[in-house]
Amino acid sequence: MLLYVVQPANSESCTKGEDQDDEDLCIVCWEREREVIFCDCMHMCTCQSCASDVMAAGALCPMCRTRIHSTITVKF
Ligand SMILES: [Zn+2]
Ligand SMILES: [Zn+2]
Repeated sequence: MLLYVVQPANSESCTKGEDQDDEDLCIVCWEREREVIFCDCMHMCTCQSCASDVMAAGALCPMCRTRIHSTITVKF
């Protein structure tokens, strides 16, 4: 059994004025809109194409590295 310890970031040193542009875009290719939710972490961070790549490459969420058990495709 593997345990991942996530340490809190030092919020004191956060830089101001971060751009929130492109927050609806896939974090892998930055070309298509996010449309797949990963379970169990419930992150929606990739398009359908990149989600298949992620699943083929070991099924770890690109955002938090949680093992993905299933995906939900969101249709807008
Ligand atoms: Zn993508
Ligand atoms: Zn995640």
